[in-house]
Amino acid sequence: MFWDKKIETLKPADLTALQLKRLKKTLAQVQHVPFYQKRLADAGLKTTSIKTLDDIKKIPFTKKQDLRDGYPFGFFAVPLKKIVRIHTTSGTTGKPTVVGYTRKDLDTWSDLIARNMTMVGITDDDIFQNMVNYGMFTGGLGFHYGAEKVGMTVIPSATGNTRRQIEMINDFGVTTIHCTPSYAMHLSEVAEEMGTGLDSLKTGIFGAEAWSESTRKSLEGRLGVTAYDSYGLSELFGPGVAFECPEHDGLHIWHDSYLVEIIDPKTGEHVGDGERGEMVVTPLVKEAMPLLRYRTGDVTLVMEDDCLCRRGKKIARITGRSDDMLVIRGINVFPSQIEHVLLEIPEVGNQFMVYIDRINHLDEMTVDVEINREYFSGELADLAILQKKVVKELRDALELRTTVKLVEPGSLPRFEGKAKRVIDRREVV
Ligand SMILES: [Zn+2]
Repeated sequence: MFWDKKIETLKPADLTALQLKRLKKTLAQVQHVPFYQKRLADAGLKTTSIKTLDDIKKIPFTKKQDLRDGYPFGFFAVPLKKIVRIHTTSGTTGKPTVVGYTRKDLDTWSDLIARNMTMVGITDDDIFQNMVNYGMFTGGLGFHYGAEKVGMTVIPSATGNTRRQIEMINDFGVTTIHCTPSYAMHLSEVAEEMGTGLDSLKTGIFGAEAWSESTRKSLEGRLGVTAYDSYGLSELFGPGVAFECPEHDGLHIWHDSYLVEIIDPKTGEHVGDGERGEMVVTPLVKEAMPLLRYRTGDVTLVMEDDCLCRRGKKIARITGRSDDMLVIRGINVFPSQIEHVLLEIPEVGNQFMVYIDRINHLDEMTVDVEINREYFSGELADLAILQKKVVKELRDALELRTTVKLVEPGSLPRFEGKAKRVIDRREVV
């Protein structure tokens, strides 16, 4: 099933020509961004230097740190007046990365999501409950507008209150849900506790976290859905970058919109199809915030054969990160962000440990932090106040609830060389 049959079934030669045309357009568009003006000039590159897709290798990579350095609007290629939406994503320290969208970008983005949903047989007959965060996280509004474009009946239920989510699924006859795989597991357990089925459900779209085939089997069995993996990242609009098709063997990525390279993260050199490496993406259709060779940090491979369902090489499921970013309940967290928050609170030291567990299928983060005696009386009442303060500061910075344990000075492990402050006890099942 096709949303945009012409573009989704382009012959390889036509696709290459379209990619090259769009890459050249993107190169012209980035000339409005001072960062890229300088970057391309330093590399001795002109718009005319790119004659084939292979010439992309001449262009330097763009890293997440570059985007952070451009905070807040340094990467916008259009005047702010033309920006109609802003989302943000966590950076490695206090400041997030800002992503802007023009009206055309929002239209392009929702179109890509409509392609994905149509690919798996979702139509305007479907009733869609979108159980993800509707704030700065792109998963909420991204899927919302894509589903409306398909013509689905959309229920913007967002997160929380699982019993009410279940009531709505049953009362409204919801056929399609979107959430993180861990929340889906939690949903199925609460439904069991309530003694209710979720009989109307047919399709589950799960994303923003790594999940495996055994989770698929479990979710499909418990919820009575066919499950599809969804991949995206805010710097590339948000969700809708790649999506599983009914073959359930890898994810389609829309090559007319995203130019994909897989590199060895250490050398930056290309690796072959079938070889794992870091995915580097040049979005070809972004207006407000065009990027060149963006290093996603996500590890995957390009599959060697075309899919049975349509042309175009798929990517394998994301199997990890090439940096230290954690994904907790779908939210990106860098250990350096936690450190940054703790350093601002004089009553605690700069020694901390982070533990991540999966409890009842939900990610839980615990931060152990040492008290700083110089600034702290040791009164129990003060201890409770301090503990609350640390929880609040972390929640404000990470948009994530954490458990904080205050511990005696000197009681946490010290590291020689690279500190290992994060113990991830979740099993990727
Ligand atoms: Zn396919």
